[in-house]
Amino acid sequence: MFKKILIANRGEIALRIHRAARDLGIRTVAVHSTADATAKHVRLADEAICIGPPAAAESYLNIPNIIAAAELAQADAIHPGYGFLSENARFAEIVEEHRMAWIGPAPEHIRTMGDKVEAKRTAGALGLPLVPGSDGPVNSVEEARAVAEEFGYPVLVKAAAGGGGRGMKVVPDAASLENGFRQARAEAKAAFGYDVVYIEKYLGNPRHIEFQVFGDGKGNAIHLGERDCSLQRRHQKVLEEAPSPALSAADRKRMGERCAKAMADMRYRGAGTIEFLWENGEFYFIEMNTRLQVEHPVTEMLTGLDLVREQLRVAAGLPLSVTQEQVVLKGHAIECRINAEDPASFAPSPGLVSDYHAPGGPGVRVDSALYSGYRVPPYYDSLIAKLIVHADTREDALLRLARALEEMVVSPIKTTIPLHQRLLREPDFIAGNYSIKWLEELLAKG
Ligand code: ADP
Repeated sequence: MFKKILIANRGEIALRIHRAARDLGIRTVAVHSTADATAKHVRLADEAICIGPPAAAESYLNIPNIIAAAELAQADAIHPGYGFLSENARFAEIVEEHRMAWIGPAPEHIRTMGDKVEAKRTAGALGLPLVPGSDGPVNSVEEARAVAEEFGYPVLVKAAAGGGGRGMKVVPDAASLENGFRQARAEAKAAFGYDVVYIEKYLGNPRHIEFQVFGDGKGNAIHLGERDCSLQRRHQKVLEEAPSPALSAADRKRMGERCAKAMADMRYRGAGTIEFLWENGEFYFIEMNTRLQVEHPVTEMLTGLDLVREQLRVAAGLPLSVTQEQVVLKGHAIECRINAEDPASFAPSPGLVSDYHAPGGPGVRVDSALYSGYRVPPYYDSLIAKLIVHADTREDALLRLARALEEMVVSPIKTTIPLHQRLLREPDFIAGNYSIKWLEELLAKG
């Protein structure tokens, strides 16, 4: 196993990785921008190195500075967390070229899955069901029209380089196709510097259901069940739960096994998430994320596994600590993403947190780098805490979540805690009856 790892990230995920490493007796090196000098992950790590000014492009995305820090600290490996450089195949290669282990999938798998057109082609070849749509990139308005007519309106024009809910344009009818197509391309070029787009049938009322997979890079792979991430705003996840209220045990087993087999066939290494839309009992692959997800604790609560520990194990060439037969999914887990945002307008609300109190007690977990006296910087993602609850049944998990949200104090900045409390009063949410459109419709009501 590694002796020392560098964590190329910040916030709750940097802390999460530090904890898993320390639990294995591994020393940690934090890197940070000048804005994060007093951050909790910096305080707790064994060593800390400043890698640049606040702007992420000059610090957390600054490859030469991160590599220099790792060499200076003599780290054996680098964990990228999620976001930032986690899906940058070139960075993974550079880490390996510097004789350090990359705690993530092989660079070629990151590259393939990072291009959503290539990802769909690969998933199709591995036997996973796809959202109906264009066979590869769509290069002209004429081609877009032919595809849209074949599958029927509405369609979705998606950027091959898209991510984080960006780079998608809904085209409701033939009259809006030309505009929609040109706009989607221009936006893709502006946001990602790469204007390749493709077209999918726009599904009316699906759920977002994703499977957690894990491979050892040697042809063995397992699945750890699904997460339902249908509660979204602007295609971004707000709350995740497992098991999905919509899925039968037979569907879970069937699709989980197909995902695990696809990963084994690829000789995939490390953690991955295969995302599907699910409608009328059918799964449709949309993309694969080749990294740890924000919502991974939901799966940890159900399985009792530490997914970061598993990542460290396979990156060090060890086998996974469990076989598929040993994986037991127990009870129900829900995660709330708590953001420093106004719960009504969603405007960012950074600033001083003078009072912070984390809920506790049975079945409650909080992943957060907050502390009383911490100042949430304005430069980064607004996620400040993840509250995860676990109970035997969904009904009990909802009660526990209400109790934990009541206990939680993050003051005086605005947070999305009241939004989660509102969800818990909604009959459709209580019944588990919601699609990816449901939250936007609720918010539109005011
Ligand atoms: P990103 O990489 O930006 O997360 P995804 O392809 O994973 O993009 O899609 C994000 C979300 O957008 C999905 O969870 C879903 O809500 C919506 N979406 C994506 N594709 C479709 C589709 N074909 N029909 C309807 N909604 C879609």
